[in-house]
Amino acid sequence: MSTPDTAATIAAEVAAGRRRAEEVCRAALGRIAARNGELKAFLELTAEHALERAVAIDRDVVAGRPVGPLAGVPVAVKDNLCTTFGHTTCGSRILAGYVSPYSATAVERLEAAGAVIVGKTNLDEFAMGSSTENSGYFPTRNPWDPERVPGGSSGGSAAAVAAGFVPAALGSDTGGSIRQPAALCGVVGLKPTYGRVSRYGLVAYGSSLDQVGPLAGTVTDAALLLAVLSGRDPRDSTSVDQAVPDYRGALRDAPLAAVAHGLRIGVPAEYFGAGLDAETEGAVRSALRVFEQLGATLVDVTLPRTPQAIAAYYLVATAEASGNLARYDGVHYGYRTPHPADIEDLYSATRAEGFGPEVKRRIMLGTFALSAGYYDRYYNKALRVRRLIQEDFTAAFDHCDVVAGPTSPTPAFRLGERTADPLQMYLADVYTISANLAGIPAISLPCGFTRAGLPIGLQLQGPLFGETLLLQAARLYERATDWHTRRAG
Ligand code: GLN
Repeated sequence: MSTPDTAATIAAEVAAGRRRAEEVCRAALGRIAARNGELKAFLELTAEHALERAVAIDRDVVAGRPVGPLAGVPVAVKDNLCTTFGHTTCGSRILAGYVSPYSATAVERLEAAGAVIVGKTNLDEFAMGSSTENSGYFPTRNPWDPERVPGGSSGGSAAAVAAGFVPAALGSDTGGSIRQPAALCGVVGLKPTYGRVSRYGLVAYGSSLDQVGPLAGTVTDAALLLAVLSGRDPRDSTSVDQAVPDYRGALRDAPLAAVAHGLRIGVPAEYFGAGLDAETEGAVRSALRVFEQLGATLVDVTLPRTPQAIAAYYLVATAEASGNLARYDGVHYGYRTPHPADIEDLYSATRAEGFGPEVKRRIMLGTFALSAGYYDRYYNKALRVRRLIQEDFTAAFDHCDVVAGPTSPTPAFRLGERTADPLQMYLADVYTISANLAGIPAISLPCGFTRAGLPIGLQLQGPLFGETLLLQAARLYERATDWHTRRAG
C-alpha cells in the first residue's frame, strides 16, 4: 500500500501535467478499498463523482486551462456537510437516504479549487460526541490501534487522513471535533476563527460555535485548504468580510525565520492539572522545550475559567441544538415513521425512532435549559461564563502570541470504554471547548507518541483571526520534529 503524497505535492504535479488526477484518484480509492473495511472511516464513497471530476481536471491541464491550488487532490468530507452528490446523513438514521439539493460553500470552494471529493466520512450523530461511537451507523476505528476510537466527532475524517486514504479532509468543530480526533489520530486539525469559513450547508448543531475546518497530514496542507475555504460568503451572514491572508506563503522560510525569534508561547497552568495523562503531559512539555530552542519564550498565563468551560458549553450547545434539530419532523427531511396514528404521532414517533440516545439527551437538556423559569438560572448564566472565558483569552493574549497545551487529556481510549458514562465522554473536550466559546482559532498537531504507540496532540490557540501566526508556530515546530512523518499501519 502506497502512502499518499501531500496535497501540495499532488496539486503541483497535476497542474504541471506530470501526474494525472485520475491516476491519483484511483490510487486513493485503492488505498480505501484495501483498509476501509476494517476502519470504517467512510459512510459512503463518491467514486463515480470523484473520477468524473478528476478526468475533467486532467482535460483542463491538457488544454492549458488554469487549474486551482488543489488540482487533483483527493479529499474526504465529513457527512454533516451537504453535497449534491451522494447522501448527507449527519451520521443519523433520521437523515438516512437524504440527498441535499445544494452543496455546502466549503465543498463548492474545494471543488472550484480542483479538489476531488472521494467520499463522506463517519461522525457522531449530528456531531455530538468525542469518539464517533454515537454514529447511527457504525463506529470508526483508530488506524493506529483498531481497538481504539479515532476521537470525534470528525473521527471518520481524522481516520481517513491518518490511514493515508487521502492527504486532507474536512471536519467541523463545535467544541473540539476537528482538533480532538486530529490529536487522537496523529494528524493536523485546524478550527478557524468563528466567521472565517462559511457555515452555509454545514448541518447546524450549535450555531454560535460551529466552524468548518481542515484536517491534513501536514501544517502546510492545512494552510492550503484554509486559504481555499476562507472568506466572506453572502449565503452565511456570520461569515466575515475580511481579507484572506496568504496562509501558505506565510510558511516559507523567510517569514518563518522572522517570527521564530521572540515568539511568546503562553502556558496556562489550568491545562496541566489533574486528569492529564502523564505521557501526554511529558510530550507537550517536550514540545514547549522545542519552541524554546527555536528562539521562542515561554510565558506563564492564566485561563481561570477553564474549569467552567464544559458546563457552559453543554448548556449553550444543547440549547442551540434543541432549536436546530426541531426541523427533523418526518415531513421536511429524511426518515418518517411508517404508521403514524395522527400528525402528532408522526412527529414524535419519527423523532423517537430516528434520533439516537445522545441526541435525545441533548435535545432534552437544551429544551430544559431554555424553558421558562430555568432560562436565567442556566442558559443566561452559561452566556455570562462564556463572556468571562472570552475575557480570559483577551487578557492572556496581552502577554503572549499563542497559547500552548495538550489537545486532549488522554490518548485514544478503547471502543466502548466511555459509552456508558456521558460525563466521562464530555471530559475529552476539556481543553478544546474554550476556543469555541471564545470564537478563537486553534490548531492541533502531532507532538509525540505514547509507549503503546498512540499519537499525542499539541494544541495552539491564537487570538481572533490569528490563523497566520498559529500556522507559523505550528510549522516551526513541525519543521523541527518528525512526528508528522510517521504513518499508521
Ligand atoms: N465532543 C463535543 C460534543 O460532543 C464537541 C463536538 C463537536 O465539536 N462537534 O459536543
